[in-house]
Amino acid sequence: MNICIIGTGYVGSVTAACLAELGHGVLCIDVDAEKVDRVNAGIPPIHEAGLEELFQKHIGKRLRAVADYTPLADSDISFICVGTPSAKDGEIDLSAIKAASRDIGTSLRKEDRQRHSSSENYHVIAVKSTVVPETARNVMVPIIEKYSQKKAGRDFGIVVNPEFLREGRAVHDFTNPDRIVIGELDKRSGEVVAQLYEGFGCPLIRTDLKTAEMIKYASNAFLATKISFANDIGNICKELGIDTYDVMHAVGLDRRISPSFLRAGAGFGGSCFPKDVQALIHKAEELGYRPKLLRSVMDVNEGQPKRIVRMLERKLGGLAGMKIAILGLAFKNDTDDVRESRAIPVIKMLTDKGAKVFAYDPAANENMHSVFPNIRYHSSAKDALKDADACLVMTEWDEFKKLDGEFKVMKNRIVIDGRKVITPRKDIDYEGLCW
Ligand code: NAD
Repeated sequence: MNICIIGTGYVGSVTAACLAELGHGVLCIDVDAEKVDRVNAGIPPIHEAGLEELFQKHIGKRLRAVADYTPLADSDISFICVGTPSAKDGEIDLSAIKAASRDIGTSLRKEDRQRHSSSENYHVIAVKSTVVPETARNVMVPIIEKYSQKKAGRDFGIVVNPEFLREGRAVHDFTNPDRIVIGELDKRSGEVVAQLYEGFGCPLIRTDLKTAEMIKYASNAFLATKISFANDIGNICKELGIDTYDVMHAVGLDRRISPSFLRAGAGFGGSCFPKDVQALIHKAEELGYRPKLLRSVMDVNEGQPKRIVRMLERKLGGLAGMKIAILGLAFKNDTDDVRESRAIPVIKMLTDKGAKVFAYDPAANENMHSVFPNIRYHSSAKDALKDADACLVMTEWDEFKKLDGEFKVMKNRIVIDGRKVITPRKDIDYEGLCW
């Protein structure tokens, strides 16, 4: 098939490369000209295992990028992968979705003028961006119809096909999903997208647009709830001198529960969980329902970075002038993504209290530099630790598990681990956040 990918960020780049690998012709469209140039040079705009190889293999052959929407109507499917960040009060910001809908509509209309397209030319728009229930039907369809002068379900199709990939394992997750969800306006739209996933060997859920939109939010809200639950239990365990990892290991062996997302620590970040839970809360409250559980999930999450800073303050007796090494800036390991990383509120609190921050991340120094241009960045953990009064560990990178003698260069060997990744040593004052 000929496929357009609109937005070449995390989801768009991975979707584009994986579909090219499956043999489809893929055209990426992004409003960011720098990203377009990077894609055409075979360089993925993001750090993700296995992506660069796929870009190098397919660029200029099955994969290319442009900055305008004109060629879109020649494709069979266009996947919308633009960002849907939080606006004020946690409400979803649909401005990129609306802009993409407008430009898709305009492109479909031009196509009509050029080719007088007939019924066999049925372009399907597939929404991979995470959008609150009723967005595709009530926001996108009217815009696309207005600008294309065409009718949804007759002249073009639309489906909601949410993405469940995990950053750091995204290429693997795209081709090995647990399930594929296709919410469809009409059967014909669903068939076109279902064809693309033939042979994936996982359950395929065909449903309506708003159910598909809700499935994505319910999934993310549940995973975020598991993490906040683990943190709540972890905070109680800490008071009791119990290692919550021993507790959660046993809890997770119950097949009804599963061991995933039960690691207590500094909380969840990233471009999805915080904003998606917020957007769901906002949507619910707009409808007159106050989701108490989801509010608590966010409260617990916001409390964890405060706990780690309080622990540090207690240990040092004050933070002004202290040199604090931060190991890990990405919101999780194996990515350079710092969006909503728990390191952000921690660094903010530390600098507000007069501490000097010396940071190191294997992949995310550059991205964090645009958030905090005035802290010091280092190219190794050992460099960041040199002469430090204390160290906070904020991301579970594998390379931190191997740290050993590096702590010897610290002034005070105080290490507070927000992710249970450091191996405690006799010569360091090690403390876990909730164990
Ligand atoms: P991103 O910010 O990394 O990428 C978005 C891209 O869209 C950027 O390259 C931007 O330049 C481009 N863009 C913005 N407006 C555009 C427009 N009008 N036309 C064309 N391009 C435009 O975002 P992301 O992390 O890939 O997330 C995209 C969507 O997928 C979001 O809704 C997100 O919630 C959802 N999602 C993300 C993940 C993830 O792990 N990152 C997982 C599942 C779902």
